[in-house]
Amino acid sequence: MNFGKLTLNDEIEKKLSSAVDSGTLSHAVLLTGGTEKERKELSILLAQAVFCSNEPKPCLKCDVCKKVKAGNHPDIFIVSGEAGKQRSIKIDTIRDIRQRAFIMPNEAPFQIFIILEASGMGEEAQNALLKILEEPPVTARFILASRSRDDFRQTILSRVTAYAISEDSGTAAGEKENAKAVKAAEDIFTALVSKNECRIMMSTGALEKDKKTFKAALEKLILMMRNSAVYMYNSQSSGTDSEKRFASVFSAGEIIEMQNVLKNLIADADKNANDNLLVTRLTIELSECIRR
Ligand SMILES: [Zn+2]
Repeated sequence: MNFGKLTLNDEIEKKLSSAVDSGTLSHAVLLTGGTEKERKELSILLAQAVFCSNEPKPCLKCDVCKKVKAGNHPDIFIVSGEAGKQRSIKIDTIRDIRQRAFIMPNEAPFQIFIILEASGMGEEAQNALLKILEEPPVTARFILASRSRDDFRQTILSRVTAYAISEDSGTAAGEKENAKAVKAAEDIFTALVSKNECRIMMSTGALEKDKKTFKAALEKLILMMRNSAVYMYNSQSSGTDSEKRFASVFSAGEIIEMQNVLKNLIADADKNANDNLLVTRLTIELSECIRR
């Protein structure tokens, strides 16, 4: 497989190359990890690889490759949710995909349905998608992309072949742990923005009894807060939507205060403090920060 300008780690390149080159790429692929941009680029590249008839696939030069890249291939449908925003992909959108999937392709042997930031599918949308993943028409292919495997129900995961983009893919267990920390950090971050103490309490619950994830999540939170603070002073700097929202809700002083709470807790976690007490302290101390 030709990855063009995209640089990925050896492991995923090897796995995808072997599937693409042997023509055995699964009818439903899930890409996780990496950045939103990487996920999108790889999704398009895979779609090109499925349709391109030159070697190595995709050649990126033929009409088919160009059409896919330009977004005007009639047999490719792309929908995209918003990262981390539940239900940003409507159930009707998935129902529409289900109907389209049974129509014959126009010029390619398949239709490819690409669902980017698929974490935007709520429970109902995931159920609707599951139905078609379970009994897909032979002419339909699916490429899903999302931050983490944890964004999906097990029933969906069992129907797709997943590839992790993340550089530090390492072991599957390590990857899962990391994804859990990132998800928890994002949940806590959103809860803080809502200034709702109940939501903060619910969001920190995921970190109980798991000190490693606890620390990783807090480190990630500190980083997100730092990005918000940078954005506050330079609106040209890149930041996720939630980081920008965070910057509009809290002052620089408040952000520093929250970061200090997190840093102290990480230090205490290193000193072997009681795990569950750490989560309780995190909840109480962050709640105090937003109450002021
Ligand atoms: Zn080509």
